[in-house]
Amino acid sequence: MTMNTATRSPRTAARFACDSIGVCRGAGAVRCATVVSSMVLAILFAAGCGEGRRDDGPAPSRRVVVLGFDGVDPNLLEQWRDKLPNVSKFMDSGTFRRLQSTTPPASCTAWSSFTTGLNPGGHGIFDFILRDPKTYLPDRTGAVSHAAEYRFGLFPKTPETFTSTMSGQAFWTTADHAGKRSVVLRVPCIYPLEELQHGYEQGGLGLPDMRGSEGTFHYWSSDLSPRDAANPDLGGKVLSLANAKDVETVIEGPVNPLSPSHERLSIPLKLKAAGKDALTIETSGRTETVEMGRWSDWFRLGFKVTPLSTLHGMARFRVLEVEPNLRLYLSPINHDPADPAIALTEPPSYSKELQRAVGDFKTVGWNHETWGLNEERIDEEAFMQDIWNTFRETEAITMHELEDKKTELLVSVFVETDRTSHMMYRLMDPEHPRYDAALAAKYGDSIQKTYQRMDEIIGKVSAKLGPKDVLLILSDHGFHSWRRGFNVNSWLIEQGFMTLKGGAKSTERKFLQDVDWSKTKAYALGVGGIYINQQGREGKGIVKAGDESERVAKDIAARLRKVVDPKTGKPAVAEVYLAKETWKGARLADGQDLQIGMVPGYRVSSATPLGGAPEGLFEDNKKKWSGDHATSQTSATEGILLSNLKLGTQDEAATPSILDMAPTILTLLGVAVPPEYDGHALAFTAAPGGE
Ligand SMILES: [Zn+2]
Repeated sequence: MTMNTATRSPRTAARFACDSIGVCRGAGAVRCATVVSSMVLAILFAAGCGEGRRDDGPAPSRRVVVLGFDGVDPNLLEQWRDKLPNVSKFMDSGTFRRLQSTTPPASCTAWSSFTTGLNPGGHGIFDFILRDPKTYLPDRTGAVSHAAEYRFGLFPKTPETFTSTMSGQAFWTTADHAGKRSVVLRVPCIYPLEELQHGYEQGGLGLPDMRGSEGTFHYWSSDLSPRDAANPDLGGKVLSLANAKDVETVIEGPVNPLSPSHERLSIPLKLKAAGKDALTIETSGRTETVEMGRWSDWFRLGFKVTPLSTLHGMARFRVLEVEPNLRLYLSPINHDPADPAIALTEPPSYSKELQRAVGDFKTVGWNHETWGLNEERIDEEAFMQDIWNTFRETEAITMHELEDKKTELLVSVFVETDRTSHMMYRLMDPEHPRYDAALAAKYGDSIQKTYQRMDEIIGKVSAKLGPKDVLLILSDHGFHSWRRGFNVNSWLIEQGFMTLKGGAKSTERKFLQDVDWSKTKAYALGVGGIYINQQGREGKGIVKAGDESERVAKDIAARLRKVVDPKTGKPAVAEVYLAKETWKGARLADGQDLQIGMVPGYRVSSATPLGGAPEGLFEDNKKKWSGDHATSQTSATEGILLSNLKLGTQDEAATPSILDMAPTILTLLGVAVPPEYDGHALAFTAAPGGE
C-alpha cells in the first residue's frame, strides 16, 4: 500500500504545542520552537499573543458555499418536495440534478472523491476497510494513529498524531495554495486534516473518540442478560452494577499512553437514586440529577495520566431505568473541543475558538448513537433527540462561519440525514422484517423530518448570501431499504471458489479464520468487495496473476449476476463491477478485484464485511440498522445536486458526478484545475441574482 505522506505528515510537537495555546497563528516557527521547550514559558507567551484570524484582508466579491447532506436520496427528495419549500425553489429556478456516486456508493469512498477529485483508484479509499493481502485481515481505512510521547514520564512531548491512507490532495488545499481562504467543516473521511495557510478545517468522520474507537458507549445495568455478561464489549462497553440504589463504578476512558500493557485510564462514577425516575450522577467533580427520558448536559471528564497531564473528554448520560433495575447509558466520550489531546481542527486551536463562539459540540467523527440503538440499549426517542441536538451543533458552527465575510469557500457537511436513514428506514417500509406499526406511527416520518430540517438550514444559509454568492448543495449517495442480507463468502463456498478446512460448508468464526487457502480462489471482505487469492500478492495465493486471475474474476461475476433469492424468486444482484473496468490510478492494486452492486432491498450480510461465512446464502435483516447504500448498484444509488445557479446546455443532458465537484468549485473560485482530476468543471450559465 502506498500512502501519500507528502501532504499528510504527522504534525510536529512544536506546531501543536504552540498552536494549542494560541501563540503562533502566523507567528514565526522559531518563536514556536522556543515556546515548546517550556510549558511555563508557553503560558507566558500565550498571555501576550492575540488570537485574530489569519489573513484579515478584504472580503471577496463572491463566496462559494457548499452544503453536504450525507445520504440524501433524490427519489425521497422528489417525493417530499411539497414539504421542502427551499429545495423546491432551487428545483424551480436553479438546478436540481441527480449526482452520480462512486463505485461503491459508500460514504468514505464518495467523500474522498469529492475531496480529491479522483476516482477510488486514485485516492485508494475503496471501502471502509483496507485488507492486508499477506494476512487476509481487514483494517480500517482512514487515520492511522501514532502514540503520544511523554517527556520524563511527566508531561506531553508530542501528542498522538495520525497519518492518512488516502492519496491525493483536498481541493481546498489546492485553493489554499492559490491564496484562497476556506473554512471546511466536518467533511467525512478527511482526517488527519491537511495543513492550510489561509483556512480552517474541522474534522468529521474518521476522528476517533477518547477510547480510540469510532464511538464506544458505556451501558451499566443491574440486570445484565447472560449474553451481555459473556460479551462485555458487545457494540459498546457493557458493565454490571450491584442491585443497589447507591453504587460506585468507573468510566473506562482512553488507553494510558504511559502504560506498557495498554491499560485504560478510569475515573470513578457514583450513582444514587433520586426518587423513582431520576438518578444523581457524580463524576469528575460534578454532580447532576438526571431525569429519565432526557440527555444530561455535557459532563467534562478528566483522565489523569500524570500529575502534570490530564486528557480531557466530555460525554452525556441517559438514565434508562431506576426501578426495579438500574440502567444507565453514557454516550461515546468525545475529545473536549476546548482542551483536546489530539488535533480536532486545523489549526488545532480552531476547535477552542469554535467552542468559545458556539458552546460545546461533539468532536467524535461518528457523532450519532447508531450503535446504542442497533444494540437496543437506547430507544428511538433517545436516538432522535440526539439527532436534533447534533443537527443544531453543526448548524450553529456553519451559521457562525457564514458571518465571516472574508471566507471565499465554505464547505459544511451534515450527516444526520444519513444516520437517520440507516436506523429508521424500517419504519417507512412495511416489507422490512423490523417494521413495527406502533413505532411507525410515532417515528415513521423521522427521515422526512431530517429532510425538512435540511430544508430549513438551506433557507437560513440562503438568507445570509450576497447577490453574487454561489450555493451548491449535494449528497454523496442515495438510500435503499435493507431487508435481506447476502452471505457472499457462503456463496463462494457453495460455488467452489472457497474451501473451508475439513470441507465445512459454513463457519461461525469471522476474519476468514477457517479458510483452507490452498484450495481457495476468492474471498469476500468489506461492503461487497471480492478479492482473488492471487499468487505473489496474497500470503497464500494460488491463482496466477494476469489471464488466470481475470478468468476467475469474470467467472465469479457471471455467476453472481444470476443469483436469485429463493424467498422471492427474484434476482438479488443487479451488477458486478470488475476492478479494471471500474477504476484507474496508482492505488488500483489496493482495491477489491470485484465489487457487487445489489438490487434495492439487499445488502451483503452483516457477517460478510469481516470475513464471516455463516450458514445459508440469504437472511432476513433483523437489526434496526435497516437502510443502506454501500453495496447497492451505483446507478440506482445517486445522490443529489442543487444550486442557485443554472447548468449550461452542455451539461444539461449528462448526469453530473461527485467527481465533478472539485473541478467545478475550483473553477468557480478562479483556481486552475489540477490535470489529474477525473471529473470536469460543470458549466453554469446564469449567475445568481439574475445577473
Ligand atoms: Zn451511510
